[in-house]
Amino acid sequence: MPPRFSPSLQQKIEDRLRFYEDLGIRLFYKDREPGSAGFIPEAAPSTFSATAAVLPEEIALPKAAPKSAATPRPAPTAKPAAAVPIVLSDAGGTSLFESVEKIADDTLLKIREDLGDCTRCKLHKGRNKIVFGDGNPKAQLVFVGEGPGADEDMQGLPFVGRAGKLLTQMIEAMGLQRGDVYICNVVKCRPPDNRQPEPDEVTTCSPYLLRQIDVIQPKVIVCLGATAAKTILNTTRGISQFRGEWLEWRGRKLMATYHPAYLLRNPPAKADVWKDLQKVMLELGLPLPKKSKS
Ligand code: SF4
Repeated sequence: MPPRFSPSLQQKIEDRLRFYEDLGIRLFYKDREPGSAGFIPEAAPSTFSATAAVLPEEIALPKAAPKSAATPRPAPTAKPAAAVPIVLSDAGGTSLFESVEKIADDTLLKIREDLGDCTRCKLHKGRNKIVFGDGNPKAQLVFVGEGPGADEDMQGLPFVGRAGKLLTQMIEAMGLQRGDVYICNVVKCRPPDNRQPEPDEVTTCSPYLLRQIDVIQPKVIVCLGATAAKTILNTTRGISQFRGEWLEWRGRKLMATYHPAYLLRNPPAKADVWKDLQKVMLELGLPLPKKSKS
């Protein structure tokens, strides 16, 4: 008799297995029928134990994502072999962020209070809620996206739509929970029709992002998507030219990777992102998944 799960647990299992499937890990369940909208594994959880033996070398995942470390700042246990960060800036002049100086005794609360009911740029006209940021104020890992979408605009929280759900899965695959990291955007109000933020909007809003990062002092920043990466790094290069490389930004290690919304359109790119996230895990001292046995 197949095991019975609550609908919410069943949904979580389905989401997690779909995520693994997109990474090319297929042993523990049957391929979906062509045209099938969803997937529910027929195999009992006991068959999960066979997974590690057949995972592809480069994208092997843990049999189950380990629980979040007791402390959100795990002690590093290993250094990446070739993690010499490089400074990337080819757009001429200094980055628009470089002139922003640290504010003594700054806090996230002060930054939010300073932002207030902001009307400093034209994005305020169409917004419902300012999406300030969310997560651990002492996180070692900060994810920075481009700007809020429709779901985020309604809820006032970053990455809560479909792309946000995928970001949550990515975080959990790293052995963390959303509450362990901090998530924010370059601009804090939704651009109309989800267009890219314009330079004047980025220039006006980005000092608040800078202050957030200066307060949080993360060890690693992960930039999600081309717009956020190119804006922050002051580069005109395509993200594929520096994705997955360790870069330096304001004295911190930064890695740019694909935006979860891009992964929803291009699931095979999840394997690239997973490689990037494993580099981040190594830098943060998080346990990497065991390699498969040949
Ligand atoms: S995007 Fe930033 S600067 Fe523009 S109105 Fe919103 S909070 Fe203010």
